[in-house]
Amino acid sequence: MSLDGKVAVVTGGGRGIGQAIAVVLAQHGAAVAVWDLDLPGAEATATAIRDAGGRAVAVGGDAADAVQVRAAVERTHTELGPVTVLVNNAGINETVRFTDLSEEAWDRLIRINLKGPFLVTQALVPDMLEAGWGRIVNISSSSAQTGSPKMAHYVASKGGVIGLTKALAMEYVAKGITVNHVPPGFIDTPLTRQTLGDVQAVAAMMPMKRAGTPEDVAHAVAFLASEEAGYVTGQTLSPNGGRYLV
Ligand code: NAP
Repeated sequence: MSLDGKVAVVTGGGRGIGQAIAVVLAQHGAAVAVWDLDLPGAEATATAIRDAGGRAVAVGGDAADAVQVRAAVERTHTELGPVTVLVNNAGINETVRFTDLSEEAWDRLIRINLKGPFLVTQALVPDMLEAGWGRIVNISSSSAQTGSPKMAHYVASKGGVIGLTKALAMEYVAKGITVNHVPPGFIDTPLTRQTLGDVQAVAAMMPMKRAGTPEDVAHAVAFLASEEAGYVTGQTLSPNGGRYLV
């Protein structure tokens, strides 16, 4: 499996799952633009890739803001060239009872988790159409497969990401562009620690008796980004340790 000569964008690549995805895509040969709100985080990921002999650039900004997305695309084009691999990974989560969920919290989460992938994908699809080749991998969530209490806005946003995946898979099915989604199960990341606290207690309830690692997710993404996955589109590849069986 090789991504030599490909340019990839990974949103939210400054830490957690996105960081592992950026590193693993670079290990397969891609030049990676690491986009993140947290520029120092993005720089740390890009530096780790370069120190290992790869090519990477860090780009700061909000992946759910149209003006900042345009600037990030421009910077990526200047530094690395046209993009044919996109991983929509940036996302947030919080737990809140449905009756306490405010309109502001709903709008904020839907903006980042669902509008973000719309804006970034729309900005980068022209590169893929021009190349006649593209790979879009959206990070959804197993919670959109199983449902989950106190996460109505999050689960709704990830259900939207799954719908977006299927719609675009069909829109570009004859253009050399595949669109798939990866719903992680319970993965040990900074977001998980912020949202759930005691990772070990929850991990003990998982079928494999452990939390997933960001790398468990990254390897699934790398497969979907590869040449070898060219006949796979509109699909679900679930690194979830047996938490949910499709
Ligand atoms: P994380 O540790 O919080 O990392 C997410 C990164 O994305 C952070 O660096 C964050 O920056 C950045 N980010 C957030 N909003 C952004 C925006 N609008 N524009 C650009 N960057 C932004 O999260 P994670 O656990 O790795 O999760 C990554 C993805 O996997 C998310 O979509 C999440 O919903 C999904 N997921 C995670 C799990 C899990 O168990 N961890 C399970 C299912 C799905 P800041 O730190 O500055 O906010």
